[in-house]
Amino acid sequence: MTLPLDEQGRLSLGPLGDWVLGNIQSGLLVLDAQLRIVFANPWLLRRARRSADEVLDRPLTEAFPCQAGSHFERALQQALRTGFPAVLSETLHLSPLPLFALGSAPSGQVRLHQSIQIVPMGHAMAREAGQRYLLVQVTDVSPAVARERVLREQAQRMHAMAHVDALTDIGNRRHFDATLEREWHHAMRQNQPLSLVLFDIDHFKQYNDSYGHQRGDACLKRVATVIEAVAQRPRDVVCRYGGEEIAMLLPDTPLAGALKLAQQVVDAVRGAAMPHVVSPGGVVTLSAGVASERPLPGMVADTLLLLADRALYQAKRLGRDRVEVLAAASTGGREPAQS
Ligand code: GH3
Ligand code: MG
Ligand code: MG
Repeated sequence: MTLPLDEQGRLSLGPLGDWVLGNIQSGLLVLDAQLRIVFANPWLLRRARRSADEVLDRPLTEAFPCQAGSHFERALQQALRTGFPAVLSETLHLSPLPLFALGSAPSGQVRLHQSIQIVPMGHAMAREAGQRYLLVQVTDVSPAVARERVLREQAQRMHAMAHVDALTDIGNRRHFDATLEREWHHAMRQNQPLSLVLFDIDHFKQYNDSYGHQRGDACLKRVATVIEAVAQRPRDVVCRYGGEEIAMLLPDTPLAGALKLAQQVVDAVRGAAMPHVVSPGGVVTLSAGVASERPLPGMVADTLLLLADRALYQAKRLGRDRVEVLAAASTGGREPAQS
């Protein structure tokens, strides 16, 4: 078989074939067994910003110097050696060839994202042709990659929104539930303590009655900010647990540390001196219930919540504006002392 060549010795398939190859909306390259470029279609040449004379009859690595030693070049060599087709997926090799969007400014060029298929000529035909040729098909997958990125970003934003409380910007109840469950099992595996502090604003119903719901909302936001400022470690999590109840989850933190942080929050909120006419001290205060556990197999995460909630109730009962923990806080699986 002789290859259909024109008077300049270049591959030509006649008017119909040339029309097809000239209008196809993907890149086509034909390489010989020395990786010399035998054919490049207009789609590819225009995006490579090269003329036919600049690339034809030249080794690939001379026409595109960046390809020397590249994964693409190795894939071509392997296809020649083995006779098997290969695919360079856009997820692993985003932009193997220096191809650019039409009309984009040469400065600040961003390569097209490409999906590349390498098809080696079969044995029988290679025998007829005198050597094995490779057909390289290049598809511009930039729009699909961009769409995927937008979708991924949207999904990330939606996920963040689904876990953030709209009023206070701290985690919401869903985030708290998921985090408690995860940290509980992490603490169990690592044999580490996990502490929880539940805060509740004192006489908050009367705050709303005295100052209105909007000022109530602003007060709640301020309290959330104060709590967040105290919980500084990367794995500490602050969430709005209920109406004006805020939870602070402290991984790898023993009871003493949790008590200290809870007291810091209670002091800081009192120190912020937000006026509250109905409160005994004349300012907004918080009550806090603390619980700490080293989870054992068979124990459930709700144990921690139950203990913190009881301790909070105790803080309310003993006069508010204080931190409380149940007498037998670390139960080790035993029932805690009743308050
Ligand atoms: P206590 O000292 O016993 O905690 O008294 P309290 O009045 O704070 O009682 P409780 O904790 O049961 O009160 C919850 C009140 O918090 C009910 C509601 O008026 C108010 N509240 C709950 N969520 C919000 C909110 O998002 N915004 C505002 N402004 N108020 C809220
Ligand atoms: Mg309250
Ligand atoms: Mg409450």
